[in-house]
Amino acid sequence: QRHLRLYYQPKVDLKTGQVTGVEGLLRWQHAQHGFIPPDQFIAPAEQTGLIFPLTRFVLEEAIQQCCAWHRMALNVCIAVNLSARNLQDPDLPRQVTELIAPLGLDPCCLELELTESAIMMNPTRAMEVLTRLHEMGVALTIDDFGIGYSSLAYLKKLPIGTIKIDKSFVLGMMANENDRVIVRSTIDLGHNLGKKVVAEGVENQAIWDQLVAFGCDLAQGYHISRPMPAADLPAWISQSSLGTGVSTAS
Ligand code: C2E
Ligand code: CA
Ligand code: CA
Repeated sequence: QRHLRLYYQPKVDLKTGQVTGVEGLLRWQHAQHGFIPPDQFIAPAEQTGLIFPLTRFVLEEAIQQCCAWHRMALNVCIAVNLSARNLQDPDLPRQVTELIAPLGLDPCCLELELTESAIMMNPTRAMEVLTRLHEMGVALTIDDFGIGYSSLAYLKKLPIGTIKIDKSFVLGMMANENDRVIVRSTIDLGHNLGKKVVAEGVENQAIWDQLVAFGCDLAQGYHISRPMPAADLPAWISQSSLGTGVSTAS
């Protein structure tokens, strides 16, 4: 499992410029085949059921890393991606408690990202699992918002705190008027439903400025930082003009 590593990509508050959290993204360095991107191994892992030990590994790594950063007074939240089958797993909330409780981590420091399509595979089961996680205090985010099998009826009912606008709309929003309208409308929709809104795929300053003008809450993307190894984060935060507003001295 040493070939499987989590990289972390910062999420930044568009109003204050502060880093509020990081998203864990899996990296697989294969001995023979070299780097294999997650898009290529997550789907097969879902089909074979390997996604269950894989998600557990990611949760464990991410939660331990989050605690290590907190000990350095680096108070970032940690986000983990869930796949469709994780949302059908009634044992997931118990596993999360088992990982968090002994470390004394505040559950609201853990954020779980899930897609609309994953919820719609079995909305009733997903709703049960998500409701339990929400009751535990875990933060929930809808990922890739706008490209999936969307249901505004479920969006209204789900205990979701944040919507993440898919990067396919954000990347082209300065060149494409329709994308810009979708981004602005999604920000308004999210806010009117009482949710926070994150934009992913923020690749340049022009996109950043437009998102600020639209009142978007958080941003993530190559303009801010690419995903990086855990060890690089403290130096990146203190070197960037960003920061958590908390002393990073250990
Ligand atoms: P995602 O959750 O939507 O993650 C965002 C992807 O966009 C990441 O690709 C990230 O590196 C990339 N990205 C970030 N900023 C930018 C940008 O400004 N421009 C562009 N063009 N791309 C950007 P990555 O790391 O290859 O991950 C791909 C997908 O694999 C993720 O999409 C997620 O669905 C899945 N994935 C990754 N790690 C995990 C995991 O631990 N568990 C599960 N279930 N899925 C994972
Ligand atoms: Ca994600
Ligand atoms: Ca996405």
